[in-house]
Amino acid sequence: MRAIAERFIKNTDFTEDEFRMLVACAEDPEAAELLTQEAVRIRKKHYGDKVYIRGLIEFTNYCRNDCGYCGIRRGNRNAQRYRLTKEQILECCQIGYELGFRTFVLQGGEDAWFTQERLEEIVHAIRANYGDCAITLSLGERSRESYRRLFEAGADRYLLRHETADETHYASLHPPELSAAHRKQCLWDLKEIGYQTGTGFMVGSPGQTAAHLARDMMFIRELEPHMVGIGPFVPHHDTPFAGEMGGSVELVSINVDMKNGVVLDNEDMLTIDDEFSVDFRTRSDEQNGEVDSLAYMTDQQITDYFNSDNLIVYYTPKGMEIGFNFEDGWVTVTYEDYEQFLKVF
Ligand code: SF4
Repeated sequence: MRAIAERFIKNTDFTEDEFRMLVACAEDPEAAELLTQEAVRIRKKHYGDKVYIRGLIEFTNYCRNDCGYCGIRRGNRNAQRYRLTKEQILECCQIGYELGFRTFVLQGGEDAWFTQERLEEIVHAIRANYGDCAITLSLGERSRESYRRLFEAGADRYLLRHETADETHYASLHPPELSAAHRKQCLWDLKEIGYQTGTGFMVGSPGQTAAHLARDMMFIRELEPHMVGIGPFVPHHDTPFAGEMGGSVELVSINVDMKNGVVLDNEDMLTIDDEFSVDFRTRSDEQNGEVDSLAYMTDQQITDYFNSDNLIVYYTPKGMEIGFNFEDGWVTVTYEDYEQFLKVF
């Protein structure tokens, strides 16, 4: 294993078979350590120790698609749906700009309510108000003409993860009307139009093998995208893959005090007691429908999860998302009224 890792560090021009062997290096601590050190060296060379932040605006969770792994798939009747208005989106940009964000990412499901004209109007408005900011779109699969018009309206970047480059594996994760071939074509279109283009894939998705991951590497090398996002598969309780094993990285988030740059521990942000846990269960029932694992937990167990490093806390345009990781997954609830639970900053 060490030999293949060393060869890759010297020359990354691997065949698909060699990439498959490289993926197997994850099982060998010595080879994995070598590759990690090299990754850190390259990261430091390009970015130093800086953290680059993006203003992610999740502006709609309606979606016409039914991807097997996705919590906002159209078949999930339990999802609480929302759309932000143009004014709310611009307000997010305003707040983000004042906080120092210079990249706005408009991300949403494939929501027909946001017609081409509405999207162009929003992108135009952001471009007109924030000429020094990058506008990134993450709106799924659209026609080449639609991508072109949004680019002309002022968008610079587009994120569209291919999720898996293998046709058969893709078909096992997605509904029949979606195909890996079409998704790849969208990526080629985006690049040709002039977007800084991002793709990427899940690790640990159901049925994935080292051969699939090797194919992902080959596709990325062929596409030469400007950005790559790779994340673990996290099973969502309201999807057909609810019972599948998650990828190996836990759902984590960090919170940064934007005034002084200090990283805040999740546990230091909120006042959580037994009463909070009882209320959390009620809110989860309302927002998520019945979550089996939660139904089997006692209030005390929920409080214990909250009072450990399993606690999840992050902001969304709707408020604060609060929840926790547990053995087989995670659960979160949106708190629009989160301020009453904050410890004083
Ligand atoms: S297209 Fe995206 S948002 Fe829609 S169901 Fe699939 S993964 Fe979810």
